[in-house]
Amino acid sequence: MLDTLGELERTHTCGELRIGDVGQKVVLMGWVAKKRDFGPLTFIDLRDRDGITQVVLNEADTSGAHAKAKGLRGEFVIAVKGKTVEREGTHNPKLATGDIEVHADEILILNEAKVPPFQLEVAGNENLADESARLKYRYLDLRRAEMQNNIRTRAKVVTAIREYMDGAGFTEIETPILLKSTPEGARDFIVPSRIHAGKFFALPQSPQILKQLTMIAGFDKYYQIARCFRDEDLRADRQPEFTQLDVEMSFTNREQVYRLMQGTFNHVYKKFDIELPEAWPRMTHAEAIRRYGSDKPDLRFEMELIDLSGDLADTDFGPFAEALKANGTIKCIVVKGRADYSRKQTDELQEFVKRYGAGALAWIKLGDETTSSLLKVLGEEKIAQLAATAAAEKGDAVLIVAGRKSVVAASLGALRLEVAKRENLIPENVYKPLIVTEFPLFEYNDAEDHYDAAHHPFTAPMDEDLEQFREAVEGDKRELLGGVRAKAYDAVINGIEVAGGSIRIHQRDVQALNFKAIGLTQEKARERFGFFLEALEYGTPPHGGFAAGIERTLMALLHNDNIRDLIAFPKTASAQDLMMDSPGEVDEAQLKELGIKTFTRETRSIH
Ligand code: ASP
Repeated sequence: MLDTLGELERTHTCGELRIGDVGQKVVLMGWVAKKRDFGPLTFIDLRDRDGITQVVLNEADTSGAHAKAKGLRGEFVIAVKGKTVEREGTHNPKLATGDIEVHADEILILNEAKVPPFQLEVAGNENLADESARLKYRYLDLRRAEMQNNIRTRAKVVTAIREYMDGAGFTEIETPILLKSTPEGARDFIVPSRIHAGKFFALPQSPQILKQLTMIAGFDKYYQIARCFRDEDLRADRQPEFTQLDVEMSFTNREQVYRLMQGTFNHVYKKFDIELPEAWPRMTHAEAIRRYGSDKPDLRFEMELIDLSGDLADTDFGPFAEALKANGTIKCIVVKGRADYSRKQTDELQEFVKRYGAGALAWIKLGDETTSSLLKVLGEEKIAQLAATAAAEKGDAVLIVAGRKSVVAASLGALRLEVAKRENLIPENVYKPLIVTEFPLFEYNDAEDHYDAAHHPFTAPMDEDLEQFREAVEGDKRELLGGVRAKAYDAVINGIEVAGGSIRIHQRDVQALNFKAIGLTQEKARERFGFFLEALEYGTPPHGGFAAGIERTLMALLHNDNIRDLIAFPKTASAQDLMMDSPGEVDEAQLKELGIKTFTRETRSIH
């Protein structure tokens, strides 16, 4: 009789037994996923990280064990000893172990379990428990097969990355977490110093400066699976801490970095039997924005943006004329076969584009009759001309936005994705990679009326644009900055920005121009990056690199748009850990030691 664990050893995992194992005596250990009680017969689905095996206890064969099984509940931890038998009747094609079952003659309860706060074994994602419950009891949620698969896939991805990097001659170098502000431009998480009260470390937004220092230090090829911290407002695809493959190399150029990026992703995807093209398609940033309204176009479907400005150059319809006069644009997308969009549907889509700043959404529907929200103001002939320019056919709907170029791109780009989702235009299990090149060096910051570094301030301008850059900064022609392109690039898969990087500035004078352009005074630059600027003067090789988001890579690989599903212990969208209940309070004494006084939100403004 099995009544203590002793030296009992499991012979197989719960996902391992096959028809060829029939007749074998086995010991399995795991959790009770399900129990079905049929009087003298009790069935248990026994689960471990590998899968599920059906265990059968028959009162006629083993009354002791059968009686014990009666008392089992979900999530009890048990060991069973028994024999592998071919299933009678129907096999279960959904289970890898579905051809067999284990007829147990002994059972040992290793641990009992409270009734879980939510059901773990559910069919289909729509029946999942509320996410906050799953996050609070993360260790239970992680027992589910899907989560096990996500986290193990993650480990497999990271292992494949290390394998590739090592094979390509890169050295893994760890860099500190207690650091100083880095230049990514998000808000820092800061850590107070006890020994130097009143002073703070900042957590790295990325190891950017440090990896560049490894180039100055002569390591030539650096990589790291690096944790990064950014105190930003979270979006669906962001977390306050995330992991990236961080890479830097010396004596390099863009083509070499592209090859390395492609090579890395291709190697990783191959581990999952997915063949990406050896050389990925390329598109400049300008072309991506023009054709898809996005710097990370999803190429799994078409529906490109079409420019109608030419046809409307002489229009006197107010909103269109004003947009064009202000150097704006008028563009559309064509939704195939949706001339039957109802008023309610076009209203909904209009609300959708308004979220991206668009003033309105105009439409043309090429049904049996052509109808359009613009018919009265433009007339039949013009409407027909616009439909022809858009290459819309009978049965199609044309959706039109006018306004500032950036607003038209953002709103129609987002509408393109939204419509594709609603109309089911995105094919499953297809991977469309792309390298987007020639990003702008600067980004205009509307709210503060100045230019920010679009990537980070160590990114090199394109050689072709260096003159314009000098003229913009030295000649004080700020408006020219918007047109300066950078040696910066992104890797995109299925509309997800999986990696980004740049060739860095290695000449001091260009670096100085860059700081000046973004309004960083010499003193400020010295205060923030003085040690780095000094290092640049001790023989810096030309260098460049990239960083690939591990979570984003997994999102693309697993077609999962919830980043939290891909991190073992994530934060909520409002940056909390529901399981540990953090961030939390600390003792008064601890604060005193750190020389810190806290104020609540309400009193903060008073002090
Ligand atoms: N440090 C950059 C980032 O985290 C990547 C790079 O330029 O290599 O986005």
